[in-house]
Amino acid sequence: MIQKNKINSFWKLGEAKYNTANFSISENGDLLILNNQKSLSVRDLVLNYGSPLQIFMADVLHERVVGLIEGFNQVIKEHSYAGLFSYYYPMKTNHNKEVLSCVLDSGAHVEVSSVNELHLVKTMLEDKGMKDSKKIICNGTKDTKYFDLIDEMHEQGFHVVPIMDNLEELPRIKKYKGDVGVRVDLKYRAHTHWDKKFDRFGLTQEETMSLEHIPNLKILHYHIGSQIKKNKDVVFAAKYAFKFYAKLQKKQNSLDTLNIGGGMGLPYEKNKNEDTHKLVVRLIKSLKYLSKYGKVKEPNVIVEWGQYVVAPSQITIFKIISHKKINRASAKRWCVIDGSFMNDLKDTWAINQKWHITPVNNFNSKLEKVWLAGNTCDSDDRYTGDKCVLLPIKDSNEDQYIAVYDTGAYQDSLASYHCLLSNPTKIMLKQGEVYVLNKRKTADELGRLFGWS
Ligand SMILES: *Cc1c(COP(=O)(O)O)cnc(C)c1O
Repeated sequence: MIQKNKINSFWKLGEAKYNTANFSISENGDLLILNNQKSLSVRDLVLNYGSPLQIFMADVLHERVVGLIEGFNQVIKEHSYAGLFSYYYPMKTNHNKEVLSCVLDSGAHVEVSSVNELHLVKTMLEDKGMKDSKKIICNGTKDTKYFDLIDEMHEQGFHVVPIMDNLEELPRIKKYKGDVGVRVDLKYRAHTHWDKKFDRFGLTQEETMSLEHIPNLKILHYHIGSQIKKNKDVVFAAKYAFKFYAKLQKKQNSLDTLNIGGGMGLPYEKNKNEDTHKLVVRLIKSLKYLSKYGKVKEPNVIVEWGQYVVAPSQITIFKIISHKKINRASAKRWCVIDGSFMNDLKDTWAINQKWHITPVNNFNSKLEKVWLAGNTCDSDDRYTGDKCVLLPIKDSNEDQYIAVYDTGAYQDSLASYHCLLSNPTKIMLKQGEVYVLNKRKTADELGRLFGWS
């Protein structure tokens, strides 16, 4: 049993460094979310709206975007850095409407990776009257349809910046009247799951350097992977990229912006967390020093950190629906949840992602080590390993719920319908109010996705 005064720190709740500042545990052992000075019981929310339940916390997302932008701007000011900072939200990280709406209202521009994302961004910017104030960076391989929409939007007055991803895009890039960028496949490699020996995105350094003069080339863009855990990898990559930028700038003299892409890691398992402020200071100081040394103007800086910003803005709640004893394992019991890792937390299955998991209720009970299993008939639908999940021992008839933290990035867009399970209901907390964004689908609604009418 954990002492009451240590219970929050034991579960790593209520701590900004773990992105759990807005969580705590009540006297009677329930998980609370602090929202707009109100404490909401997660158990009450799940009893009201059903399980499984995704809780999107719009205010958390707002604070993360504002914090990131203000953090960079402050460091830029303190170091008299001459370039400007902009944050672009990479839409593929989470393309729910309320997410995009929130990041735009909080000061972000947008990075899109497909023509469909671009189409939806166009609609939202029109609805919000933000056509003139927001910029859109277009990544990905661009076919005619994608380029046609970029051209059409440019003619309508949107600020759209296509980033050349391969040499075949050059003719359309050259014809384009607005600002353009080029993505380079840096020879630098960081330590991440996505560190592929052969990257397939962007032009090689040689191809980029041998481009003819493009008068409206503004941005040099790179993206070295996701979930980069070490600050030093982010800084070293930026320094490497800057040296290349400085050389390219001599040839392409309209170039004025370095886009360092996404990839900033997140303490999913609540182990050691790197300090973002220190990273920003190192980045800006390095760019300033290297600009002076390389005799180039200090470039504008763009960052596209996706999961760093959006992952902590959502948690997912499941109910335990069955228990089964395990013999001779580090865990004592299987606990089956009323949802699926494979469907709704896909990275668990795809890249062996580990999460921070706590109970939602019965925090004051004795604990046991368990493994979790999803409710599909797939033996891969599970969450196991030496590091077990700790859950209260079942000693009453009360349902046990669990919370999985930081589920706001990528899981929604990768979700699927294995065994015809529905996605969870999704609610949004915003300034103390609760909104239902998505209801669980019925069997008929699910069937319709597969030709049943
Ligand atoms: C995926 C992607 C991002 C976001 O990556 P995170 O790891 O979520 O920060 C940013 N920029 C580009 C070009 C991407 O492809």
